[in-house]
Amino acid sequence: MIRWTADLEIGVTEIDEQHKMLMQILQDLYDACSRGEGLSYIKQVTYFLEWYVIKHFNDEERLQKKYKYPKIEGHVKLHKVYRDEIRVLAKEVREKEATIQHIAKVVDYLNRMITEHMKGADQALAYYIKHHEIYQEESYETFKRDSLTGLMARCDFQKLLEGKVAKDRVGEAFCILQVDGYDMVKGIYGYDLGDEVLIYVSGVLREFESTDCYIAHMYKDEFIIYVEMQEPELRMHILEKMKKSIYDGFKRKGSIIPLSATVGIGEIREGDTLKVALQKANVALEAGKESGGNQIVVYEEKIHQQMMQRVDIIKMLQPHSLRQHLRVVYQPIYNLTTQKIQGCEALMRMVDHEGNMLSPMVFIPIAEENHLITAMGYYCMARVCKDFAEIKAKLPDLDYISVNLSMHQFKDKQLVEKFANIAKAQNVSLANIYFELTESIVADETGKMKEMIKALRSQGSKILIDDFGSGYSALSYLAELEVDIIKIDKHFLKGIGENSRVECVLKHMIDLIHNLNFKTVIEGVEEKEELEKLQKLGAHSIQGYYISKPIDKNQIDKILKK
Ligand code: C2E
Ligand code: CA
Ligand code: CA
Repeated sequence: MIRWTADLEIGVTEIDEQHKMLMQILQDLYDACSRGEGLSYIKQVTYFLEWYVIKHFNDEERLQKKYKYPKIEGHVKLHKVYRDEIRVLAKEVREKEATIQHIAKVVDYLNRMITEHMKGADQALAYYIKHHEIYQEESYETFKRDSLTGLMARCDFQKLLEGKVAKDRVGEAFCILQVDGYDMVKGIYGYDLGDEVLIYVSGVLREFESTDCYIAHMYKDEFIIYVEMQEPELRMHILEKMKKSIYDGFKRKGSIIPLSATVGIGEIREGDTLKVALQKANVALEAGKESGGNQIVVYEEKIHQQMMQRVDIIKMLQPHSLRQHLRVVYQPIYNLTTQKIQGCEALMRMVDHEGNMLSPMVFIPIAEENHLITAMGYYCMARVCKDFAEIKAKLPDLDYISVNLSMHQFKDKQLVEKFANIAKAQNVSLANIYFELTESIVADETGKMKEMIKALRSQGSKILIDDFGSGYSALSYLAELEVDIIKIDKHFLKGIGENSRVECVLKHMIDLIHNLNFKTVIEGVEEKEELEKLQKLGAHSIQGYYISKPIDKNQIDKILKK
């Protein structure tokens, strides 16, 4: 894969033994490189250099002491630098694997040492070293480096890659690495720390640059990595190491911010253009960020389809498209004492261009992430208020329709006011609209959401706690809640009838909730036996497929017949 060309011509007359030795090492190193064995040879060379430099340095010092030679400043200093640097290098080569950079460094030292040594030696009459670099196809150093990060600049990288993709690179990959939470760091701690993060990450990445791993600073906190290897495991290993080094290093620096990264890998397939290959890495990166970041994702067609679906969903959820794509269905809530349908829960559905119904489990999180949930929430509320009269006509005992509210909707400070206006416009009393909230909203420590919930209640609405018991509910805080109804999560029904302990828990929970003056709704009732059990346990209301699935308002007559 790596082709080294050693084009070297050395002409020296009358040189001393040490020169000969250095020259020979350099020549051998070139030869090994052109045979593709440079990496295995470099260890030996580095150890030799370590020994040579130490010895030479000591000798020189001793000689100076003995003969009171005038101190040649540059000469001695340079050797001290060599000594330290080469020691570090030898240590690295000993502890880690040797890399192409090590070869480059050693060649550089050898060249400098030969030159310096010549200056100080009387016998050396002439020498020249022609073409003393090691060439490699498209050498790194011919490219400009980005001033902030010290990495290859984006435009040069693109040029380099265009050439690469043109050749047969199938199986190799583009990877895009992005620092997780960079915008937040920059936003909170300012540009300086933002730059510090970039400089730090670039520093870590530079360590990984080699002739089969090209890295460039792409954009902001994005780095692009081209790994010229066809073995996916090896590539993954390198990327894992990068990720780990970024994390460990920043932690070691004593920083309070953990620094993780997400990587997308796009493997080059037959016929891929540069753009396509890069785009694959991008898609994989996006998928990785969406599922929480701090991971490495390899592009797959399936991921692409999911991303495309996401984009479609985002388009369909734009405020002007809601009328076309959003529906509200209703699921009855049945009062076990009066044996009447007392309420309905409004649940959103999405209809795509082909007429398929999408579950809110799919589109609500996307709406929340893209800040589209607020507009959707108002749309849903308006729909519910419009439908209220029609549903009430079919279900005369209907007291309320409950609307789900997610945490994100509370970001709109005018939420309560807007809801009141919507209800008023449709001539619906807010006393007929309840709101379902999850425990995390009600337990909000900041008090901001509490204020809004209070305002909703003061306008006559009742508040239900949704999915109660599905998280880590602390019973102690139930006593402090200012809500009206507790909806017990469907998981509590699992095992009822088979396991007397499950029943016991449920019974005590219902009693406790009732003793605290809240009403209960048990969700997910699918069987007649469950209904009967819950009736015995004294539950107030139930909701579930046994009574009815969520249905269109036009189908409500049908449940009544049932
Ligand atoms: P949720 O509020 O817990 O809604 C109850 C979910 O349980 C509904 O799923 C309903 O169809 C389902 N379900 C009802 N009865 C049964 C049953 O007997 N067995 C089983 N296995 N499931 C049953 P759906 O409609 O898919 O809604 C899922 C979630 O989406 C809702 O959970 C709610 O969190 C969210 N959601 C739906 N509509 C809205 C909305 O308008 N606004 C917001 N913010 N969230 C909504
Ligand atoms: Ca709900
Ligand atoms: Ca629920």
